[in-house]
Amino acid sequence: MTHVFNRHTFDEVMMPNYAPGAVIPVRGEGSYLWDQDGRSYIDFAGGIAVNALGHCHPELVNVLTDQANTLWHLSNVWTNEPALELAQQLCQLTFADRVYFANSGAEANEAALKASRRWAIATYSADKHEIITFNNAFHGRTLFTVTAGGQPKYSEGFGPTPSGITHLPFNDIDTLNARISHHTCAVMMEPIQGEAGIIPADHDFVRRARELCDENNALLIFDEIQTGVGRTGELYAYKKLGVTPDILTTAKALGGGFPIGAMLCTKQVASVMGVGTHGSTYGGNPLACRVASKVLELISDQELLDGVRERHLLFMDKLDELNERCHLFHEIRGEGLLIGCELRNCWKGKARDLLVQAQDVGVMVLIAGPDVIRLAPSLVIPYEDIEEGLKRFGIAMTQFRDTHSKESTP
Ligand SMILES: *Cc1c(COP(=O)(O)O)cnc(C)c1O
Repeated sequence: MTHVFNRHTFDEVMMPNYAPGAVIPVRGEGSYLWDQDGRSYIDFAGGIAVNALGHCHPELVNVLTDQANTLWHLSNVWTNEPALELAQQLCQLTFADRVYFANSGAEANEAALKASRRWAIATYSADKHEIITFNNAFHGRTLFTVTAGGQPKYSEGFGPTPSGITHLPFNDIDTLNARISHHTCAVMMEPIQGEAGIIPADHDFVRRARELCDENNALLIFDEIQTGVGRTGELYAYKKLGVTPDILTTAKALGGGFPIGAMLCTKQVASVMGVGTHGSTYGGNPLACRVASKVLELISDQELLDGVRERHLLFMDKLDELNERCHLFHEIRGEGLLIGCELRNCWKGKARDLLVQAQDVGVMVLIAGPDVIRLAPSLVIPYEDIEEGLKRFGIAMTQFRDTHSKESTP
């Protein structure tokens, strides 16, 4: 069948910074997607941990439509009710006293890094500007956030990059202890490193990092852009860790598919960000805030969060079962509905091949680095969709094993 647009059109008109799959999904409902030819796919990718309530959730469609008929945009020259309501919810549901709205994760992190620097310089002195982040971390693609991230391949070739950022090994408390000082203004980390391959922070490491920040008058920033909004079975992962940050960034699932990001912080941090210090034209847009309000309302429900943990158990059981048959994965890990399946050494570097094979049999998955298959489905995915999706994934696993063992005997 021929279509007006196809994958080839991408190469003709789009900057080649992505490598999208061969099929073009045109419609979604719940945890299903359909492509241009009407083929269906179970969606375990969830727009990279974004579509936390699936596709076209009726309650989100309702509030978005209602807001579209009411008020689209004002700019921050005036405030608006949906933004105030969302900020109030975020303050009530978390440690935060104040909220700053952006349109993406990178922008939320950019605000967090700028606010940290300004806080340290305003409260202490200009030489308290060191930001400590961790190897393999991912914090976004602006020049500041990509430099803060711990994967050099993402910032190489864009220099000169911002200075004053130190990268340390993740989960290594001795190195952090040795390097943190009164020149440190902030320590930034993901509670579970996402892009790096679903690597959880050790509880002791996080607890000790909090103490070290306090001893050195440094801020602790949690990048919860991927782990936030119910993904781990808690509204935010810091609640389970029992460690409260000074700044938390949230995006991805916050809008359930509508672009929005937010930086949450204490009064002390917010107090240094006076009029004119930072801003964004679209930040706090009424359409985005109205949708995010509904997302938060639905996801902060305890029953929904319990459902995430139940779904986690089902995924883990079934994945273990499949793996006993195929022996593809060396470890299956993660929390809630953020699950990483790390390929055994003999299949290293082939996660993308398995992703393509899964797509071919009708299930969308993600990768997190070259060796890890990542699953980040809707938090309300029906149990029968999990079963069907994993049945398809099992077929892909078998095909993957058979094709690759023909190429080379591992
Ligand atoms: C996705 C992600 C970002 C960047 O968010 P964008 O919306 O793509 O700018 C930052 N940090 C983490 C942990 C992420 O997963």
